[in-house]
Amino acid sequence: MAVADKAASHRGQAAPDLLIAGAGVAGLWLAVKAARAGLSVMLVERGNPGDGASGGFLGALMPHSPERWNGKKDFQFRALVDLEDEIARLQAETGEFCGYRRVGRILPLTSERGRITATERIADARANWGTRFGYEVRHTPDRSDWPNILRAPHGIVHETLSARISPPGLIAALLSRLAVMPNIELRLGTAVVDVAPGDRRASLSDGTSIGFGHVALANGVDAFPMIARLMGLPAQSLGGGVKGQAALLDAGAEPDLPLVYDDGVYVIAHENGHVAVGSTSENEFDDPRATDERLDEIVKRARKLCPLIREAPVIRRWAGVRPKAVGRDPMLGPVPGAPGVLAMAGGFKISFGIAHRMADCLVAQLAGEEGPETPESFSVAWHAARSATDQGIQ
Ligand SMILES: Cc1cc2nc3c(=O)[nH]c(=O)nc-3n(C[C@H](O)[C@H](O)[C@H](O)COP(=O)(O)OP(=O)(O)OC[C@H]3O[C@@H](n4cnc5c(N)ncnc54)[C@H](O)[C@@H]3O)c2cc1C
Repeated sequence: MAVADKAASHRGQAAPDLLIAGAGVAGLWLAVKAARAGLSVMLVERGNPGDGASGGFLGALMPHSPERWNGKKDFQFRALVDLEDEIARLQAETGEFCGYRRVGRILPLTSERGRITATERIADARANWGTRFGYEVRHTPDRSDWPNILRAPHGIVHETLSARISPPGLIAALLSRLAVMPNIELRLGTAVVDVAPGDRRASLSDGTSIGFGHVALANGVDAFPMIARLMGLPAQSLGGGVKGQAALLDAGAEPDLPLVYDDGVYVIAHENGHVAVGSTSENEFDDPRATDERLDEIVKRARKLCPLIREAPVIRRWAGVRPKAVGRDPMLGPVPGAPGVLAMAGGFKISFGIAHRMADCLVAQLAGEEGPETPESFSVAWHAARSATDQGIQ
């Protein structure tokens, strides 16, 4: 069926080919990709796009380390490579700027052991990343304030695969793209409350119910209890949230500075001279949106790591809750025992680098085509088995 026909039938019978819960980076990419493939799409968001974990500003796009290569590392590597073209296409389609730049990354080396390990990884990077991207160990960074030379007593790793993006810029571009696609309907301020796979219907918080061909649960941390319920598992068994806090500083920094990452602290220069700094990882928290002294500590460490931002004023503080599936890997694909229900959640700390490729996997499955290879450890069944093992009930 042509896209225009599909859009018309979608308006008429209000039963989209694909219903998506959640307009974070996962749901938005999925909506755009599915609509580009000609499916009729309804994207339902409880509040506003970016209300969840995608509403931050860090935007690091970093690979896993290049040794002990596996399906998950390969998936992420390919996603990071492809993203450059994906963003170029999205920007050309929308005229929006996503703040993407492949700036590379510096990892300070604080011990001789670290330097030896990093040196051994040069060959792994060559083998697994190819020759387009560099991975080298150097004695000193190019400048002494990014990072502080005293914080890198054994030199640095400098790799050129990492990139950064503006999360608000990307969310705005995806929204702008879907706004002009005739086969997408966006419903804000409405939640998917329940899904009945047998009837292929979902109940919404506005009291209506909607039929669907497939439904994708891309609603971040809230996807896990919904998927667990559909599988008859305890609510918390498939995943949960890890709170993170970040700060934005007005530093007048050059936009081509590489990311700096050291012991959980990220320092990321963006296009407008702003520098984003993060982030905490909190498994227990009372207020998911509050920032506190843990963020002050991260900012302090970031200032020591990169003296360029020593005096830069903090202009924004932000906290969000990252969706983390039980097996740490993203959760992607059919939900066992729930026909027509798909999961797209659990990107944890890397969603901005992989969500477009996760979307490609689901759209290919819907079209019955061969898409990017999905690692087995991403499947819902794998996560459920992992959960059962963790609880000693397998
Ligand atoms: C401090 C911090 C720093 C981070 N830094 C990075 C980084 O540098 N690089 C990176 O790649 N990632 C980073 N992340 C992680 C990244 O932000 C998340 O992995 C990503 O935003 C998850 O996107 P999502 O679309 O899966 O979920 P979310 O963005 O949480 O979106 C889920 C959406 O679903 C909606 N929703 C919930 N329930 C329902 C329902 N029942 N019906 C309809 N809608 C619903 C919510 O309102 C929300 O808008 C960071 C996260 C934090 C907190």
